[in-house]
Amino acid sequence: MARKFKLEKGPLTLYTVFSDAKKCVVDLKARTCICNWFQTMELPCEHAIIAIVDVSLDPCGCCAEYYSKDIYIQRRLGTYRGKMRLGPRVAHQW
Ligand SMILES: [Zn+2]
Repeated sequence: MARKFKLEKGPLTLYTVFSDAKKCVVDLKARTCICNWFQTMELPCEHAIIAIVDVSLDPCGCCAEYYSKDIYIQRRLGTYRGKMRLGPRVAHQW
């Protein structure tokens, strides 16, 4: 069964996303969500995607550059020169 979300627009770039019994506040400009996924992984969480779609942005454009196809290819070829930042959740799993 699909999850249902309800979205409320807040001031500036803030959105409140309600799902089941939880509510999460997303700031699209700061790229944060109170679930911490967006800022930690630098990938939009399900709450951020709801807000991003509402403002007609491309969810892929809200991902960190190192998730892009070009950076992936550069990393595989060993030619990537950018900085990689790992979130605490990823670093903890190593
Ligand atoms: Zn979230």
